[in-house]
Amino acid sequence: MTSFVFKLETHSVPPFMNDVQEVVRAFSPYITLSDLSAEVLSIGAVPAKDGFSFFVECPSCREEYFLPLNASEGALGSKRRIKTAAKGYLYSFCNRLTGISLPYGSLTGVRPTAVYYRSIGSYSNIIEHLVTDYFVEPARAELIERVVRSQSGLINRDPLRADVFVNIPICPTRCSYCSFISAEYSRVRKLVPVYVGALKDEISSIRNEIRENGYTVGAVYVGGGTPTTLDEDMLGQILPLLDFGTEFTVEAGRPDTVTEGKLAVMKASGVTRVSVNPQTFSDDTLVRIGRRHTVDDFYRAYSLAKEYGFDVNVDLIAGLPGENFDDFEHSLGCAVALRPENLTVHSLSLKRGARLKEGGASRRMDGGVKEMCDHSIEKLISSGYEPYYMYRQKNIADGLENVGYALDGKQCRYNIDYMEETTTVLSAGAGAVTKYVYGGEGRIERKSNAKGFEEYLRRAGK
Ligand code: SF4
Repeated sequence: MTSFVFKLETHSVPPFMNDVQEVVRAFSPYITLSDLSAEVLSIGAVPAKDGFSFFVECPSCREEYFLPLNASEGALGSKRRIKTAAKGYLYSFCNRLTGISLPYGSLTGVRPTAVYYRSIGSYSNIIEHLVTDYFVEPARAELIERVVRSQSGLINRDPLRADVFVNIPICPTRCSYCSFISAEYSRVRKLVPVYVGALKDEISSIRNEIRENGYTVGAVYVGGGTPTTLDEDMLGQILPLLDFGTEFTVEAGRPDTVTEGKLAVMKASGVTRVSVNPQTFSDDTLVRIGRRHTVDDFYRAYSLAKEYGFDVNVDLIAGLPGENFDDFEHSLGCAVALRPENLTVHSLSLKRGARLKEGGASRRMDGGVKEMCDHSIEKLISSGYEPYYMYRQKNIADGLENVGYALDGKQCRYNIDYMEETTTVLSAGAGAVTKYVYGGEGRIERKSNAKGFEEYLRRAGK
């Protein structure tokens, strides 16, 4: 397969079209952008009479397009259509140049469902709209529609509902694919009790904010990192402060951190749902990716969590280093056999900060991970699971997605609230982002905490 390295140039591109170039980046590594390249890929957009003219050009070809516009569309409608068209033109150009088709076509955002929701009322056949105007492959357009259907009746419309998120970015060891800010426990051990103190203060401020604003708490999520890296005593200081008698999830992602004592503290604190993540059912792969636990550890932690009566989520990753279709099929089969309430299938995403990425690995774009994910969609739906939330990341293998599946009635409300950006999320901890959603005005305000563990403590005066 031919690959290209271009310097990207834009000509008269209006500010609202700044991110159209993300379409080109989605073709990496077949097209790589570098300011040092002598070969230029140009995108131009010029207002013309009754429409907009575009061109896309590289040393081997040039294409021109004209988009007629209708005055009755209004400024916002026109902007959207111009941007969609520009992304579509750019996608078609890169598709012809490389011979590569991407499952989500010219869709580049984190939330593929956003376009679907926006199109309700304007298009009678939204699947067709996604396929024709965004070049989304039909199976992915159907997946998006299925997710939207699963969310029906679960989208929050109450402006006084808020969720609470607490971040505990600490893990026993660092997985080789991890790009989160999570710190290894051995590095921050002495600071952990101080961090717990700072969290308690911040949670207490959140409780005041909830009281003062008359919020009803819809869901609580304690994530990270691996919150269950903390010992029973520390969990016992934090979790009871978060018991609002509602859906309450704690990530216990690393099975080697799960003990009966910690599960008992969670149960007594009102936790309803835990996430225990094998990622793969191959011990060899687990060693390769630096997760200091075995498949047996996962089975032990999973059955303990079930004994305590929690709803359990199980995460798998498609495209882990050294894994082929058979490995993934085996892992998926093992996970489905347990019938967890939730099963999330991630496609490996290699971002800056991940050991694998720093070591020179580049994302897989050979269609192998797509084969795994296509199989997961089929297998999970035929096993009684429905996809209920989805998101995409940069540098994700084969340009795919992450999808959360649930058994009937077991969707995690927090995941829907967070992904669809319908609900205010009050957040505590290093790297946490509080998000105020003003649904009526279509506005979102974000307030970010310091990212690093030490910086967070410094700002908290600890
Ligand atoms: S368990 Fe999750 S947060 Fe922790 S190192 Fe692994 S990928 Fe990162």
